[in-house]
Amino acid sequence: MLALITGAARGIGRAIALELAKSGFDIAVNYNSSEDAAESLVNEIKALGQAVGARREIAAAKFKADVSSQEQAVKLFKDVKAEMGAVSVLVNNAGITRDNLLMRMKFEEWQEVINANLNSVYYCVKEAIRDMAKARYGRIINIASVVGLIGNAGQANYAASKAGIIGFTKSIAREYASRGITANAIAPGFIATKMTEVLKDEIKAGIEAQIPAGHIGKPEDVANAVRFFASEQSAYITGQVLAVDGGMTMC
Ligand code: NAP
Repeated sequence: MLALITGAARGIGRAIALELAKSGFDIAVNYNSSEDAAESLVNEIKALGQAVGARREIAAAKFKADVSSQEQAVKLFKDVKAEMGAVSVLVNNAGITRDNLLMRMKFEEWQEVINANLNSVYYCVKEAIRDMAKARYGRIINIASVVGLIGNAGQANYAASKAGIIGFTKSIAREYASRGITANAIAPGFIATKMTEVLKDEIKAGIEAQIPAGHIGKPEDVANAVRFFASEQSAYITGQVLAVDGGMTMC
């Protein structure tokens, strides 16, 4: 079975790609700007498949596309299908932040985040859903954020995009449940990646103080949840939002 992960070259996407490859999925690695990282990930996945004891070779290939563009998202799915076949598992992981207090937030900052985080999910699911419906099988996993559940000062654009993902996920879960397709969202808390490394140490310490687990999470914590939603074992679970946040939100 083929899994496509958007924004897979680094951070959480990379951990998801490796985890799904370890579970035996072939992997389509989407990237936008991180070409070298995407290439080394593809090689790492292929090496996993060739490792002693692996059940079979794992196919992996990289596909450049800016998924905030519908034209490029359409081409991405066309290219993936031609090279690797139909997508059974779609993980919408690509995302950006453009933080600012609302009074200072430019419309471009609003629009860029909505395009990259929310419109991309619409574009990719639209492209994936027909083949999934035909196969009467599919797993859609959307990476939201706890910020989409509880909001965050300085992130109105990001919170709106992530809350939008949650509403979208629940709606398509209802539309496609009878066709063997599940759609679930994962809401990570604070996870150590490039996205969060820009935060000042005192802000990180303040965040850690709000996490019952006492520390910031790892990309692998999110990848472990994705592995479950991508598996056949999660067949009776759809339209859910799972917070992977060390207990930060509990809502
Ligand atoms: P990251 O390290 O900044 O990585 C972001 C990834 O998204 C990169 O691989 C990037 O690709 C890709 N991307 C961004 N815009 C894209 C576009 N238009 N088209 C294709 N790919 C695009 O961030 P991360 O922390 O791993 O975040 C991954 C997801 O988790 C995001 O949706 C984020 O909102 C969510 N999340 C993260 C945290 C956290 O604490 N880190 C918390 C909650 C939710 P290129 O490098 O190839 O350009």
